[in-house]
Amino acid sequence: MQSLNKTDKIILQAKKEGRVVLLEPEAKAVCTDYGIPVTKFNVAKNENEAANFAAKIGFPVVLKIVSPDIIHKTEAGGVKVNLKTPEEVKAAYNTILTNAKNYNPKATIVGVLVQEMAPQSTEVIVGSVKDATFGQTVMFGLGGIFVEMLKDVTFRVAPLTKQDALSMVTELKAYSLLKGYRNSPPVDINAIVDTILRVSKLVMDHPEIKELDLNPIMVYQTGAKTVDARIILEQSF
Ligand code: ADP
Ligand code: MG
Repeated sequence: MQSLNKTDKIILQAKKEGRVVLLEPEAKAVCTDYGIPVTKFNVAKNENEAANFAAKIGFPVVLKIVSPDIIHKTEAGGVKVNLKTPEEVKAAYNTILTNAKNYNPKATIVGVLVQEMAPQSTEVIVGSVKDATFGQTVMFGLGGIFVEMLKDVTFRVAPLTKQDALSMVTELKAYSLLKGYRNSPPVDINAIVDTILRVSKLVMDHPEIKELDLNPIMVYQTGAKTVDARIILEQSF
């Protein structure tokens, strides 16, 4: 029998537990398995553990709720950024738990994710949805208002070629922002193309993935880093 890779194991574990949502740490482990750079992280179960993980990762850090019942973490008061000391980390740990319980008293809480804080930069989104007609598709856009208000996004049917991925980036209305403008330097277009191609491979290898969201990915002059990842599996698998 062919041995299971890391992504297969994570998906299998979720199925065993009857879950369709892969938690952020699981989705990020899948990203890592596919060579997509993500922020370093650890899941803490108490405030002291959170402070210890933060010291290991290096300050500042970001703390986030980990719960299969809370998909939009910010909405639940479940994200605290730029925590600079062990005391701030411990306080944020407790605030996040309180907020999560108030938001959804029935939510199962797995723990609190302690992660490396990625420097602020241009935020982009790479996503995927499984379409009833076309199968796996890949989406690309800029973060925030560009996607939500201006609907400046592009789609392709997977699997994508490098040329497909590059054209997704260059056809955005906001492409000029990525190329650099006034005092903003150009961002690493190759790093974006690479992420799009890796997502294409991931969803082609795993037809049981119904939705994937890397939102946001921080893109720099050199390189890119995914700071939030979400994967939803098909119910029937
Ligand atoms: P949500 O579930 O609400 O989408 P996110 O994990 O995307 O939660 O966090 C909300 C916002 O916080 C992100 O859009 C990003 O701007 C910021 N953020 C989250 N994680 C990090 C990180 N590790 N480094 C820097 N900024 C982050
Ligand atoms: Mg997000």
